[in-house]
Amino acid sequence: MEFNPSPRAEELKPKLAAFIADVVDPAEPVAHRQVEESGNPHHHPPIMEDLKAEAKARGLWNLFMPDPRFGPGLSNVDYAPLCELTGRSPLSQEATNCSPPDTGNMEVLAELGTPLHHEQFLAPLVDGSTRSCFAMTEPWVASSDATNIQSTIERDGDDYVVNAHKWWTTGAASERCTFAILMGVSNPDGDRHRRHSMVIVPFDTPGVTVVRSLPVLGRDHGSGHCETLYENVRVPKEYLLGEEGGGFAVAQARLGPGRIHHCMRAIGMAEKALQLMCERVQQRVAFGKPLADQGSIQERIAESRLEIEQARLLTMKAAWMIDTVGKKAARDEIGAIKVVAARLATRVIDRAIQSFGAAGVSDDWPLAAMYAEARTLHLVDGPDEVHLQQIARRELRQYEDRRV
Ligand SMILES: Cc1cc2nc3c(=O)[nH]c(=O)nc-3n(C[C@H](O)[C@H](O)[C@H](O)COP(=O)(O)OP(=O)(O)OC[C@H]3O[C@@H](n4cnc5c(N)ncnc54)[C@H](O)[C@@H]3O)c2cc1C
Repeated sequence: MEFNPSPRAEELKPKLAAFIADVVDPAEPVAHRQVEESGNPHHHPPIMEDLKAEAKARGLWNLFMPDPRFGPGLSNVDYAPLCELTGRSPLSQEATNCSPPDTGNMEVLAELGTPLHHEQFLAPLVDGSTRSCFAMTEPWVASSDATNIQSTIERDGDDYVVNAHKWWTTGAASERCTFAILMGVSNPDGDRHRRHSMVIVPFDTPGVTVVRSLPVLGRDHGSGHCETLYENVRVPKEYLLGEEGGGFAVAQARLGPGRIHHCMRAIGMAEKALQLMCERVQQRVAFGKPLADQGSIQERIAESRLEIEQARLLTMKAAWMIDTVGKKAARDEIGAIKVVAARLATRVIDRAIQSFGAAGVSDDWPLAAMYAEARTLHLVDGPDEVHLQQIARRELRQYEDRRV
């Protein structure tokens, strides 16, 4: 395995760290105030546009984008340490145009989109003037099994007519979100994995309604996670992404690197939680000595360090495999790190919360928000159990000849 960063990545890491420390961190309270004053938890704070302009000027734009036509063309191994840095600072993700779900959408549009898709949908995302969402999950079916998806995409003349009820569509509450990539049944008589397609649905098309944003453990902010309705929505046939019946292929293309970006950010969050925990226990004195001198606290810190190092190495292996043998051959590593990173982040943040006492669950510190985010990682992009099941199945396949 080869994890050495390229000279380009070596150059970008200190530049990104300085941008976060000198520009993004001081802007955080301003952004919070601007959102609060607007009275809309999904408001786009004007300071974000200043941060984006500064990130562009510093060459810190679209760092995730592997396609050199649309970004710096870094490998996954090169991007991993940069993505980890943005995991420590949620604002820096949008500031550098590296925030989900746009990153996954940009990748899939770059890979599978037509010249028309590139011009109408990809170009404005790449330059940061719009945002987008990905609509797969539905309220009435177990969506961890995507073959259950029931929404329909029916061909009618030169159009597709979309009827869909989706929820947990991240990004749809943003006033800047202009389209969804949506999954639905287009070929009801096809094979289980050839029944679905993906279409691009512009949000200003008649029949699209954003019903509400769903809070995550009581928190509802950023660009939201929305319930959305699509009633007899007509889109031109050219808005089909990939081929008819090829929805699963598009979903797979979308979820490879995107899945490990979550893991890289989770490791960044865990590092931040560990740093906060260490600083806090040096400062608080209980029963005559700093908390840092208690054996149980030291064990918490040491366990966190061990787990972060293990998870980082597995993430780097998954990144290296995507770079060298491709997403499909790396699927076990991608599934494994998806589970490991979610566990790591929730465990380390939970330990930090405990070490903070009651302050840990307040909003005076970022730990409660980080915990809510980390907890969802056990669910998004496929719940833990589905990844474990797939890993176990492939492992067991090697021993099928022993089966009774
Ligand atoms: C914050 C957040 C953001 C999200 N963003 C998006 C988005 O942008 N777009 C989108 O389309 N979706 C999004 N989702 C939805 C997410 O992808 C789904 O919640 C996830 O795929 C699980 O589907 P489900 O909720 O229908 O759970 P279900 O399919 O009903 O599963 C429920 C539970 O059953 C268990 N289970 C499932 N399969 C197995 C199995 N094989 N073995 C054992 N147990 C199993 C798991 O514990 C699982 O959590 C988001 C969710 C959250 C919380």
